[in-house]
Amino acid sequence: MTSSSSTTQYYDAEVNPMCLCRTPSLAKKRISWTDDNPGRRFWNCRMSMKGPWFFDWIDLELNEHYKLTLLRLRREADGEALADARMKLASAEAMIAKLKLKLGDVKEKAADLKMKYEETSVRAKVLGFSLVSVVVMIGVMVMMKYAV
Ligand SMILES: [Zn+2]
Repeated sequence: MTSSSSTTQYYDAEVNPMCLCRTPSLAKKRISWTDDNPGRRFWNCRMSMKGPWFFDWIDLELNEHYKLTLLRLRREADGEALADARMKLASAEAMIAKLKLKLGDVKEKAADLKMKYEETSVRAKVLGFSLVSVVVMIGVMVMMKYAV
């Protein structure tokens, strides 16, 4: 909004300028939240993480009153966001505690089922052995009957 009416060093807020890198690309609009320039928009290169290849303010520097007001509002917003995040964290921790309890129940049931399976398996072996014994005894009795 102040771009075209002020000095030429301020770029139009709506038209991305080209950066000055070896391979130029459209600059990216960002917002500063430093104490010196709260809320002040600027253009810089998409590759700015690799070096300060391109940087230009979009907005004029704010006067001290607006800077302090924006910084105070930012602190309040940060405080609300922090309180909100703490509530979400507490809720997530409660959910984790519930899930741990359920996991404990499930592990107990699994242990019970394993014990029952093992008991059943032993019974089946005993039953199988008894059945074989009976068949062998019948076989012996039949052989004795025909042997006489
Ligand atoms: Zn660039």
